[in-house]
Amino acid sequence: MPIPATAPARNTKSDTDPDALSVLNHVFGLPGFRGAQEEIVRHVTGGGNCLVLMPTGGGKSLCYQLPSLLRKGCGIVVSPLIALMRDQVAGLLEAGVKAAVLNSTLSYEEASAVEARLLAGDLDLLYVAPERLLTPRCLNLLGRADVALFAIDEAHCVSQWGHDFRPEYIGLSVIAERFPDVPRIALTAPADDLTRKEIVDRLGLNNAPSFVASFDRPNIRYEIVDKQNAQSQLKAFIAERHAGDAGIVYCLSRAKVEDTAAALNKSGVEALPYHAGLDAGTRARNQDRFINEDGIVIVATVAFGMGIDKPDVRFVAHLDLPKSIEAYYQETGRAGRDGKPSSAWMAYGLSDIVQQRRMIDESTGAEAFKRVSIGKLDALVSLAETANCRRSRLLGYFGETPAAAKCGNCDNCLSPPLVRDGKVAAQKLLSCAYRTGQRFGAMHLIDILVGRLTERVTQFRHDKLSVFGIGADLNEKQWRGVIRQLVAMGHLAPDSEAFGALKLTETARGVLKGETEVMLREQVAGARIRSVRTKSRRGDIAPQIAGSGGAANPGLVGALRAWRSGVARTRGVPAYVVLHDATIDGIATSRPTTLAGLRNIPGIGDKKLEHYGDELIALVKAAG
Ligand code: ADP
Ligand code: ZN
Repeated sequence: MPIPATAPARNTKSDTDPDALSVLNHVFGLPGFRGAQEEIVRHVTGGGNCLVLMPTGGGKSLCYQLPSLLRKGCGIVVSPLIALMRDQVAGLLEAGVKAAVLNSTLSYEEASAVEARLLAGDLDLLYVAPERLLTPRCLNLLGRADVALFAIDEAHCVSQWGHDFRPEYIGLSVIAERFPDVPRIALTAPADDLTRKEIVDRLGLNNAPSFVASFDRPNIRYEIVDKQNAQSQLKAFIAERHAGDAGIVYCLSRAKVEDTAAALNKSGVEALPYHAGLDAGTRARNQDRFINEDGIVIVATVAFGMGIDKPDVRFVAHLDLPKSIEAYYQETGRAGRDGKPSSAWMAYGLSDIVQQRRMIDESTGAEAFKRVSIGKLDALVSLAETANCRRSRLLGYFGETPAAAKCGNCDNCLSPPLVRDGKVAAQKLLSCAYRTGQRFGAMHLIDILVGRLTERVTQFRHDKLSVFGIGADLNEKQWRGVIRQLVAMGHLAPDSEAFGALKLTETARGVLKGETEVMLREQVAGARIRSVRTKSRRGDIAPQIAGSGGAANPGLVGALRAWRSGVARTRGVPAYVVLHDATIDGIATSRPTTLAGLRNIPGIGDKKLEHYGDELIALVKAAG
């Protein structure tokens, strides 16, 4: 929900601006605005400054693209990411908008040509890298040009406290000083108060309203599973739910990235590695293929993702635990920017908590920093362990009250875990750890509890203990779950001195005495989350179309995708720049056989109709 403007919008136009709507429809082929877009567009078109906070995929681009088209002059977009600028401009050119970039990838002649077009009034939108904008030459150029507005994308990069700080963003305060009468719109994903304040201060937005959209990403299905064999779980997840889809798999280490990519390729999933150990050429090539081609899975360390604008990433999978809920949310947020059903899937186990704790313990940071890091890790672990709605947890963490206590689109809502009184199991486990001197790891404790006579058990004479075999009522997998949850609850902790050993904490006493309640969750065996896609009546998997009851013709979807790949390759642009998946699905569902019918499909504006209309209709007719 947009928060009401703190200052009145300076605009003179009527409430429903026919111009804005008609440009939205003719140029972008879209029937209507989303959320606060309309209000923002009206405000900026009317000459107002503002700050826009919207989650990834919320539709920030239109908030400055439309006012740039509606106002006199050229909209200047400051963006830190060259790949993103390039793809945005490619998309705008496809829609018939006069757009260009000004960054270090241009030769002197190319840059001069762009500058000449700007001065001649031949550009609607110009994307400029921040360091470029700050040069005297560029500021001078802008002084002579007719500027419609300044849009500062990824505005959180001005924050020195944030994780994406870019020193050149600090210099952007010059925009407000040099061009006080040109409207400024700063855009960013959800950011905390400190970052917001920094953006407002640096960009001179003190009296400007903020438009804050909900953090929620309703089309993303959250799912966190017990880690058994992460690689085979991942393969099954992709095969069952996302065969042929584009996705990102995050791993902590380079070795694991390579290993996982190889395993996926072996199982027939086209996967490419991405990590800092690869040379720049290979990294760029793999990233380009992921963006441009259909259905590629990229396996990456967290180095990958910032500035990836690909709208049709259908899943983000974590094989290792991220550092915090913020990181998890940012990484999973790269799925489903186009609003279509997508998955955020994570496999998580005891070793993840132990590993992250160790990384924090061994880091050279100050004690206060370590404490904050541990707090952030604990919050993420409790998200992973909750038996309640994941989405409510996430939104609550960001200070938002969810519309409903249950979202209906996370694993816990779709297949509620059993929650049981685990006091006795916890006591057995804790006394087992205690009686063995708090020197052993999970595996050995489980061996003792289930009564397995391993070499080690015999060696330490642990078969003579009273706890030997007292846990035979649970299996190994269940015991692993008990241990993980006791660690997550803080009754048991990895020993920072002896690797792998589990120690009792202060709070364990209360559990052993029976004073502390312990509720344990258990995933219901056999309860599987079905595909995020729906099955068509014919039983084939058909992509689901949000808000549409019809079923897409799968043969036609295939034909349209193949056509799109061909066009994208010839034109040298990403496939999604030619047509979005949602547009392909729209065509395959309503199967228009006239240009007028095709024009009604969201994503088909005037230019696309002109360029591709006949070919698309021929494909529809050929599919019968
Ligand atoms: P952001 O920059 O906030 O991550 P984008 O501007 O890239 O988001 O938009 C995300 C996706 O949503 C794009 O695929 C875009 O076409 C689509 N979109 C944006 N606004 C609308 C709208 N009003 N109607 C339909 N689709 C929209
Ligand atoms: Zn839920």
